[in-house]
Amino acid sequence: MSYKLSLPARIFDDISVCKLRGKFSVERYKFEKDMRLEYERKNEFSFGETEALEVFLYAGEWVRIAGVPDAIFENLAVEYTITRGDINHLLGRCVIYSYMCMKLFTVCSTLIIPTTPGEEIGFMVIPNSNALEYYSDLLEEIITKDVEGKKNKFCNACLYKRICPSW
Ligand code: SF4
Repeated sequence: MSYKLSLPARIFDDISVCKLRGKFSVERYKFEKDMRLEYERKNEFSFGETEALEVFLYAGEWVRIAGVPDAIFENLAVEYTITRGDINHLLGRCVIYSYMCMKLFTVCSTLIIPTTPGEEIGFMVIPNSNALEYYSDLLEEIITKDVEGKKNKFCNACLYKRICPSW
């Protein structure tokens, strides 16, 4: 597979939070040699197998997406999170983890497990082709077009707020 752009699976967290944040991150990763090791930081919870995986998405050009789910149990990828309540911004990455995991098993899903005390509900992400198409199209828009930022609850902790015209 011929590709020029390689991105970490966590890029989908950024593009789900805000398109401009996604654009800033894509530009940043163009200049990083091994963004997976730095960005896909190791989780302190480490049960089950972990493995570096990759998948190729067409987003106006072929893009390699690399990632390391926190654990893999049989055909289940697991992502631990300290996020409370709203986990929407994690869904894209979890869809991608499921597809990456299909390299090892025929069918895979991703289980999001909150690790914050009081958060007892986990979320099972079962991917389908519509979800994959949605996130590929979103990535294509971010790579190929001018996009705008949208103020949101994550702005305070955003790495790019100093250069963001929407902040
Ligand atoms: S500061 Fe907010 S609006 Fe600006 S890029 Fe970051 S998340 Fe988007």
